[in-house]
Amino acid sequence: MTGRPDLADVDRGQLERLFEETGLAAFRARQVFRWLYLHGESDFSRMSDLGRQLRVSLAELFHISTPRLVREDLSVDGTRKFLVELADGKRIESVYIPDTPKQTFCISSQVGCAMDCDFCLTGKMGFVRNLTPAEITGQVRVLATASGLHGQPFNIVLMGMGEPLHNYDHVMTAVRILTDEYGFNLPARRITLSTVGVVPAMHRLATEPIMPSLAVSLHATTNPQRDRIVPINRKYRLEDVIDACRRFPLKRRSRITFEYVLLDGVNDTPDDARRLVGLLADVKAKVNLLPLNAAVGIPYERPSDERVNRFVQILADRGVNVSVRKSRGRDIRAACGQLIVEGQRKAAGQRLAALMTE
Ligand code: SAH
Repeated sequence: MTGRPDLADVDRGQLERLFEETGLAAFRARQVFRWLYLHGESDFSRMSDLGRQLRVSLAELFHISTPRLVREDLSVDGTRKFLVELADGKRIESVYIPDTPKQTFCISSQVGCAMDCDFCLTGKMGFVRNLTPAEITGQVRVLATASGLHGQPFNIVLMGMGEPLHNYDHVMTAVRILTDEYGFNLPARRITLSTVGVVPAMHRLATEPIMPSLAVSLHATTNPQRDRIVPINRKYRLEDVIDACRRFPLKRRSRITFEYVLLDGVNDTPDDARRLVGLLADVKAKVNLLPLNAAVGIPYERPSDERVNRFVQILADRGVNVSVRKSRGRDIRAACGQLIVEGQRKAAGQRLAALMTE
């Protein structure tokens, strides 16, 4: 590892200060940002509007880390899953979901995840470590380069591996880089942060000057039920999660997305649907239903289309904005909750469960 500061790890304000400390003008930070994020160029020697001497000095003083693309899988539906290796050899997954007209990158915020939701394969890896800002935005650079989308608008969903609000500071630095006009220049509403409901961090997020769209993984309508499938609920209760949502500042016409994974016979009954309507009565909400992506080692089943439709109908009849998430990339295990990286799991039982899904 090099001792030179990694320019991919800082937002533009921090980069300007870093440059000023080394006697470089602040506008150089804008130039480097444009190269790195708009054009995907991380080699100083190719940043052609910087003088030759400056390029040499930058390379002596700093470096730019980029995660290594190890493998790419292509689904029959066009979804592409990327296995990405970090400087310490740890691996994560990111997904490109092409659609017309919008393109979406689903990126990870941690290696593994500590939340251990009962139906999620990533949870079976356990928590390994937080990603740095360079590693979070580095996934976007790798995906944009691989898909030829540098400089074009795309959506980002922080719905890959990890709980983004458990890695708050690094995720917010990444959000600043993604939205910076000299960075990826994405409107904040094109970035969706999905959380399992880390209540104190939700309150903190509500005070940020740049706010991504919020999605909340609800999955249950009573505390005993949620305690069982989303263990963090024992710490941050359902009513407190809903209260944080109610108080979350929203722009006109925008809503909080509530993700609700449908587990056959567990949380998909008409009573669950009616309770869900009640819970969200005074929240500006839309509900995104995720019929379970089943896997060996996951102790639940995907409900039938009939049960899914009945659930949808109860919500729709009562005026709730509801959609069913299309499951993309299931054949390459790129769908929601299916991201897991071999060789980094903890317990033998968990290792077995993951291998059996191959
Ligand atoms: N930790 C964050 C970000 C992950 S987003 C969060 O929980 O919101 C991934 C989404 O996929 C979450 O809503 C998660 O609950 C859901 N998910 C996990 N496993 C799934 C599975 N097997 N089938 C369908 N959705 C799943």
